[in-house]
Amino acid sequence: MAQLGFIGLGIMGRPMAGHLLAAGHTVNVYDVVSESVKELAGKGAVACSSNRDVASKSDIVIVMVPDTPDVEAALFGKDGVVEGIRSGSIVVDMSSISPIATKEFAKKLAEMGVEMLDAPVSGGQVGAEKAILSIMVGGKQEVFDQIKPYFELMGKNIVLIGDNGAGQTCKVANQIAVAVTIAATAEALTFASKAGADPAKVREALMGGLAGSRIMELLGERMIKRNFQPGFRIRLHQKDLNLALQSARSLHMSIPSTATAQEMFNAVAARDGMDLDHSAMVQALEGLANHTVA
Ligand code: NAD
Repeated sequence: MAQLGFIGLGIMGRPMAGHLLAAGHTVNVYDVVSESVKELAGKGAVACSSNRDVASKSDIVIVMVPDTPDVEAALFGKDGVVEGIRSGSIVVDMSSISPIATKEFAKKLAEMGVEMLDAPVSGGQVGAEKAILSIMVGGKQEVFDQIKPYFELMGKNIVLIGDNGAGQTCKVANQIAVAVTIAATAEALTFASKAGADPAKVREALMGGLAGSRIMELLGERMIKRNFQPGFRIRLHQKDLNLALQSARSLHMSIPSTATAQEMFNAVAARDGMDLDHSAMVQALEGLANHTVA
């Protein structure tokens, strides 16, 4: 049985590593926050002292950290994965990061005889906890086939999109669609509420029609119940929309709805909201409406 490594035990990584453990695998874990390592060790994981330590014990190293510089640090920084990894091992980066940097990371690892998959996910904390994530993968078919049984322990809709970087490009597209749908949901609920309708009843009615969506279901409920505990932090969604806006610029195209959604995240961030759930985008629209959804 392959020895698994898991780096990054945050909101997503904790439950994902937990599913691998529950399936009976040995999972070597590390996070810069030592409490998270202790928590997973309490569930049977092997606590490691660094990313290098994880890599030296594992055949497959999964990474689930916030941003591009974090992946770079985990892989190539001091006491990083490359200091411990053996030729023939596989790195699976499930974080949402730059497609361009991903291709560079894959190239550097390939020079050491290490294959890489980019495999960002969608489905949020609930998807991670219920093991129903969508997983969008970039890399070689044969490497994908080898890792798929592990993906199946964490997700349901698992698609190989193309070569290295293609999984991350798909994830950026996903984040555009999610942000713009959050904006639409927040705008609709703020409008209905200011017009005097009960937003909970409006959400219930809209869920059965064309405006219904997972975002209306999960994030619409958060907006109404004022539950902005993350979930998916605004700072991470801002990071993803930055990638979208930068890529669109280099592709010579305009993505105006994404730019507006980013401005609304910026407005919430300006009021110390960067670590709120992304459903808190509604607060920007509430400011413009001078009305709170209630
Ligand atoms: P998080 O901030 O809760 O967790 C990230 C963890 O990585 C933290 O525990 C942090 O200490 C650790 N970390 C950072 N740098 C490290 C390093 N160099 N070595 C070891 N550990 C390191 O973030 P999250 O919400 O779990 O998100 C992780 C990734 O998944 C992000 O790229 C995010 O965009 C993506 N994502 C999140 C969600 C969500 O709903 N939270 C959904 C889909 C995708």
